[in-house]
Order: sequence, then C-alpha cells, then structure tokens
Amino acid sequence: MSETSLPERLDVVAIAPHPDDLEILCGGTLAKLVKQGYKVGIFDLTSGEPTPRGTLETRQAEAEAARKILGVPLRVNIQLPNRVLMDGPENRFKLATAFRTYRPGIVIIAAGRTPAASPDHYQGHLIGEAARFYSQLTKWDDRFAGTTPYRVPHLVYVPYPFDAESRHWHSTFVVDISDTIDQKFEAIRAYASQFDEERFARLKHMVGSANGYNGARCGFRYGELFALPHPVGSPDLVATVYGSKPTTPPDIPVGKGHQPMG
Ligand SMILES: [Zn+2]
Repeated sequence: MSETSLPERLDVVAIAPHPDDLEILCGGTLAKLVKQGYKVGIFDLTSGEPTPRGTLETRQAEAEAARKILGVPLRVNIQLPNRVLMDGPENRFKLATAFRTYRPGIVIIAAGRTPAASPDHYQGHLIGEAARFYSQLTKWDDRFAGTTPYRVPHLVYVPYPFDAESRHWHSTFVVDISDTIDQKFEAIRAYASQFDEERFARLKHMVGSANGYNGARCGFRYGELFALPHPVGSPDLVATVYGSKPTTPPDIPVGKGHQPMG
C-alpha cells in the first residue's frame, strides 16, 4: 500500500474491546478532543455481540449513533472475536495493521483487569500494547497487509474503574470534561440494547460519581482519569502545575478557596 493511498493520519485513536466501553471510560474526552480540532478515531476490537440483550445489527446501529453524538469522524471495527478475545499473534497483526494504516500520534488503550465483567477487557489491554510494538517492525510486511512500518509515538491508558489490581501507574492525569459530560451520557444512552432505564440509571450514577470524584481532585466539576507508562515530561513546571487553570495565582480570599477536606 503506498503512502498516498492511505487515509488521513489521526491525532488520537482510542481502543477497547466492545462498542460502549470507550463511551463509558472516556467519551467526554473524545468529544472534547473533537471540539478542540484534533483528528480522532475509535477502534472497537470486536462487535460486542453476542450479548443477552443485543443483536449484531442493533449494536452496529447503536455504535454509529454514539459515534455521531460524540462527533468522532471515524469508527473502525477490527473484527476480532467477542467473548473469546485473546492476546495472540494474529490479533496483534490485525490491530497493528490498523495502526500502520491510520498512523495515530497517540493511542489510548482501555486498561486493567475486570474480575466481575468480560475477560475481553484485559486481553484488549494486552493486544493494544503488543500491537503498538508490532506496528513498527520491519521485514514482516506480509503480516500487516503490505503496510509500511509505523511507530506509534505515545501510549496512554484509560483505566477501568473496577480494575482488580491497585495499579501504581507512573503518572496519572485528569481531563476536564465538565462541558462534554452530557454528550458522554447521551452517547452511552445510545446503547439502549445494553442499558435499559434501570441499568442506565445505575451506570450513570457510578460513572458520574467517578467523574465527579476525579474532576474534584483537580478543581474540575467532572473529569476522566488517564495514566501514562512513564512520568509526565514537562518543559514548564508552572504550566504543568497549573494545567488548565489561570497562569497567574487566583485571588481567592483566605478560607474560601479550598475544598472542605482538602
Ligand atoms: Zn466491555
């Protein structure tokens, strides 16, 4: 495949096993990235079907509706098998081929083990890391549909909230999603086959609480937590510490500007 026949290069690609995972984990951030002008793609590793409540057709229609709600221009299904997703060479080749085709600058991988939910989640984490490594390998073009080797420069994790491990990430950061959280919930709601009224209400409570907690830790109303496999590199201590806050110290009256417990 020649360079000119390839699709436009993406700034950010987010990857998870099932359509609806990324909406729940980082839908607010994906919608925000689009608003900020970045080229964003979603890679679903599987169709997410079968499930007790869905069909292939309804799930595809729901994923497409959710994509539109978030404003993400591209959603690719890697067509690996749901429920029996396993890390292994063939699945790594397929995802790495998509990396070599879309050449993302940043890959966000849904990360962690979910002991009471699908084992696909952790396998997707492993496949994502391995495919990122494989994507750059030379002398193996036949395994990647003839695409050119491509090194994905940056890897970001978006951790599952019920990870079985207490992970000690090298560093974490929170993206302010206060202005996109409604879009996020609307996108999750698009999966009506998975979340009826009662299940959606429970999920909204859990996800909203987690986003409220993580946001509050950083001075935002709502935030989504991410992690890096290395420390945050900073060219500017002040900019890193202030983040999106004003770059001059705010004039907050003593006793008024802190959280009750922090
Ligand atoms: Zn899932």
